[in-house]
Amino acid sequence: MNVVRSERITPTMQRVTPCGDDLGDFPAGQESAHIKLMIPNDNQDFTEFRELIESGSKAIPRRTFTIRHHRTDTREMDVDFVVHDGGGPACSWALAAKPGDFIGVAGPGPIKKPVSGADWFLFGADIAAIPAAAAAFEALPQDAVGHAVFEITNDDDIQPVSAPKGIKLHWLVHDDPHTSSEQQLEFFRSLDWPKGLPGIFVAGESGAVSGLRKYLINERGLDKRAMYISAYWKIGLVEDQHQEQKRAEAA
Ligand SMILES: Cc1cc2nc3c(=O)[nH]c(=O)nc-3n(C[C@H](O)[C@H](O)[C@H](O)COP(=O)(O)OP(=O)(O)OC[C@H]3O[C@@H](n4cnc5c(N)ncnc54)[C@H](O)[C@@H]3O)c2cc1C
Repeated sequence: MNVVRSERITPTMQRVTPCGDDLGDFPAGQESAHIKLMIPNDNQDFTEFRELIESGSKAIPRRTFTIRHHRTDTREMDVDFVVHDGGGPACSWALAAKPGDFIGVAGPGPIKKPVSGADWFLFGADIAAIPAAAAAFEALPQDAVGHAVFEITNDDDIQPVSAPKGIKLHWLVHDDPHTSSEQQLEFFRSLDWPKGLPGIFVAGESGAVSGLRKYLINERGLDKRAMYISAYWKIGLVEDQHQEQKRAEAA
């Protein structure tokens, strides 16, 4: 796919919009689902890039991102990249992206959403998971109620999201992404929990997600199969190392 636009939507988020004829048969309504981005090096030749992808070469870095918006009429999708100083290929590519640049896209993976039949909803996400969480609650019925807590790096990272009126938004600032945060956990603990089955959606940095998972299962007695909980990245690990660690833990 080729980039048609790239813009900084908040200080810590770069929105890149790729477009391509190959999106013609991409299924509609996949906002919140993940995609795998295959990232070219600086000055990479397109034909060589395509051959490397088709041969399954490990020389091309692959990173996981979320479909934030998809417009079937223009064959475009918006992908929101956290701007971080860890120097990863995805972040660096997004910061330099300009119209005409190319990128490989594979997917989509499953749509991310809280359990169906919930009486109320509770979302917890850091900036990397805002695209998935926001797309998930934008798909809820308009009479949905609950809370969404978003952890951002500074006040200017607050971004417009179209939540149902009954979903209360809470923006918490954690200014050092290199240290794990317990703010979402403190928020979950301090919440006056409504009655009924909660629809839980939690995603973000591994340490923060792990604390929330333990709280929800051990202290709230929730069934882990009835929640969407996922570590999207881990402090100090590149994505391949983090995915390998998750697979080892699951095994
Ligand atoms: C299902 C799923 C959906 C995702 N959707 C999105 C999305 O829409 N937008 C998004 O930005 N991310 C998303 N992520 C997270 C993203 O895949 C990782 O952050 C990935 O590591 C970024 O790749 P990179 O090349 O920039 O950095 P890497 O090369 O993977 O890592 C380089 C260094 O940067 C650090 N790092 C990585 N991510 C962050 C971060 N967010 N903040 C601070 N330091 C970081 C790493 O710990 C490492 O030290 C998603 C992850 C999953 C599993």
